[in-house]
Amino acid sequence: MTTQYKKPVPRPLNPEHTKPFWDAAKRHELVLPRCTKCSRYHFYPREECPYCMTPTLEWVKVSGKGRLYTYNVVYQPQNRAFVSEVPYVYAVIQLEEGVKMVSNIVGRPKEELKVDMPVEAVFEDVTPEWTLVKFKPV
Ligand SMILES: [Zn+2]
Repeated sequence: MTTQYKKPVPRPLNPEHTKPFWDAAKRHELVLPRCTKCSRYHFYPREECPYCMTPTLEWVKVSGKGRLYTYNVVYQPQNRAFVSEVPYVYAVIQLEEGVKMVSNIVGRPKEELKVDMPVEAVFEDVTPEWTLVKFKPV
C-alpha cells in the first residue's frame, strides 16, 4: 500500500501481545493491559503481570489523561527520517491509571511545557495501518 509517510513505524517484537493496543489506537482509543488477579495496570504490554506473574490479562479502555512526568527536547534525532521534525519533545507520561508511557508531546510550544502539567492522548493516523498515540497539554 502506498503511503506518504516516510518515517519508521512501530515494529513490535511480539505483535500478538501488542495488537490490542495498536487496534485501539486506530479507533482513537487508548487501552492498557490489566491483570485479572491483582487488577493493576502495566505498560509496556507483557505476557504476564509484572507484579504477580499472572498470565491472564485483559485490555481496558482508559481515559488517556495523565501528567507530564518528564521530557526532553530532541535536536539531533537518532534516525535521520525525523530530521524534519526537530526540535520535538520526547516525554514520559504518568497516566491516571498509574503507569508511565513514553511518547511525544504535541500541540504546544516546548517553552510552555512544565513537568506535572495535565496532558491527554491524541491520535495521529500516519498510515492506513498505523496510528501513533501522542499527548497534548490540556
Ligand atoms: Zn497481577
